[in-house]
Amino acid sequence: MPIKILIFSPQSRMKELLESRRLQLDVELDSVDNLDALAHRVAETHPDIIWIYACPQQTLSSLDSYSPYLHKLPTPVVLAYENITLEEGNQLLAASFSDVISLENASDDTFNRSFRLLSKISHKNAELNTLRHTDLLTSLQNRASFYTRLQQDLDRIHVDSGALALFSLDIDNFKAFNQRMGYTAGDQLLLDLKNRILNCAQNFPVFRTAGDEFFIIITGLSFETTKEAANHLLETMTSLLFASFNIAEQDNVIGISIGVTFSSESRASIDALTNQANQARCRAKRVHGCSFSIYEPEKDVVPVNDGLLESDIWTALKQKQFELYYQPRVDLHSGEIVGAEALMRWNHPLRGLIMPDDFIPVSEHTGQIIPMGFWAIFQSGRDLKTIKEAGFSLSKLSVNLSFRQFQDDHLAQTIHRIIEKEKIDTRILEFELTESALFSDDLHVQSSIGELSKIGIDFSLDDFGTGYSSFALLQKLPISALKIDRSFVAKLPESSDDAEIVRAIINLAHNLNMGVVAEGVETKAQLEFLIQNGCDQVQGYFFSPPVQLEKFMKMLKTH
Ligand code: C2E
Ligand code: CA
Ligand code: CA
Repeated sequence: MPIKILIFSPQSRMKELLESRRLQLDVELDSVDNLDALAHRVAETHPDIIWIYACPQQTLSSLDSYSPYLHKLPTPVVLAYENITLEEGNQLLAASFSDVISLENASDDTFNRSFRLLSKISHKNAELNTLRHTDLLTSLQNRASFYTRLQQDLDRIHVDSGALALFSLDIDNFKAFNQRMGYTAGDQLLLDLKNRILNCAQNFPVFRTAGDEFFIIITGLSFETTKEAANHLLETMTSLLFASFNIAEQDNVIGISIGVTFSSESRASIDALTNQANQARCRAKRVHGCSFSIYEPEKDVVPVNDGLLESDIWTALKQKQFELYYQPRVDLHSGEIVGAEALMRWNHPLRGLIMPDDFIPVSEHTGQIIPMGFWAIFQSGRDLKTIKEAGFSLSKLSVNLSFRQFQDDHLAQTIHRIIEKEKIDTRILEFELTESALFSDDLHVQSSIGELSKIGIDFSLDDFGTGYSSFALLQKLPISALKIDRSFVAKLPESSDDAEIVRAIINLAHNLNMGVVAEGVETKAQLEFLIQNGCDQVQGYFFSPPVQLEKFMKMLKTH
């Protein structure tokens, strides 16, 4: 590669002079004749060396006045002079020049040496500069470039009255993954994820700003075009990012959370905007089964007690502060209680009874739902024994399984162990899954379900109708019942839309040879609608809210 030299000289003499030298180097010469042009040309062509020719009339102080300009340039600058003393030359050398060469005395060799050395320095500088802006692992741009670029884009949309979308993205429980699989696997995961993100983001700049934190910036000419591009990116991401990652010869289901925020005014500071995207991402993590969310000022207030709860949950597990309540499941053909759903409660020593909506999302976020979920299975097994010993029989006892529990590679194995140890009757045990657990359409989820179903455990699909369901998957997986989400039951029988949906779900379940359970039945009218339309079982306050084991057994007795 030729050494690119940019000559700054008011006269053409310098170029001729260089051309007349017998340089043993391959050089490419270019020249400008004023300081403004110099800065522009440097930015455009990235020369390796700048040569400044001081003509005999120039005074030392006039050369000094170049300093503020030269300091800003990333390129080594050589001064060629004819009539200043060596001492003056040295002074200039110390100021802003990388080399000062006397044209009268310099041999061809001096030129060669200076060029060679300075071009090396120049390349090293360029390398360092790239390094300063690059993340070493992924070769993506780093945090420093992210801030620079975001500021530039914000300034620009201010001028062009355009808009900007900022995506913040990270891996759920990356720390736990590293601990479980090792740091090499962690690096591999980051690299695989980077490739997928680049695949999705195509022409938009992608940054890795810290550990597992990535950002993408989309800018558009108007708010509409930006929003369209952002929606399109979200769509591709939800289909490409969530497939399992094959790392260390193992399929790993990895949760990824995405937060998005929009700005159409440059008054938003880069910090404010970054915070908004991060808060939206945290909400995506908090909300059950959600993988992305768009910033909304009202919703993205960080819950103040998140931190407190996380350490409290460990204490709660140790000190047995969790308790299972049971809500009866009533069969509509016989009118009998045929089963129950186990629902977790937290007896907090200071705060009293805490409901699952206040601690399950946090525990899913932190991964603590994994041991809590095992505890629920263990405890329901114990309670089932108590029920049996009191002389009652149940045909189904269901326990909720969070989508997060499927990220545990030992899920099926551990459940198996609990069942053996506690001698739980697997014909009675049922796991309630949400569609979000299945949605990842992942072999890992399917194989865990398959393994558990082999030992006789039934599965039902919870909150049915609120998520995505793939019909192919419904047929393929061993699901024995659909639970109609209580939001559809609430407005029965008045809402004709909901009535239609409920009828359709009942038919679908029966066509697939599955049972169907309606949740949240509170009124007689709802119950009658469900009976008339062939629903099999119901759960709801109309019969009973979830109650403590003892009370549940009393209900079994009196029923
Ligand atoms: P879910 O699985 O959909 O549970 C049904 C929720 O509906 C329960 O809320 C129950 O008390 C409530 N419910 C039952 N009948 C009625 C009714 O007639 N009207 C109304 N308005 N609500 C009714 P709960 O106990 O607060 O649990 C909330 C959610 O927390 C559960 O929703 C489930 O997703 C989660 N959860 C509870 N326990 C566990 C657990 O052990 N493991 C996991 N992974 N999740 C759990
Ligand atoms: Ca449930
Ligand atoms: Ca439910």
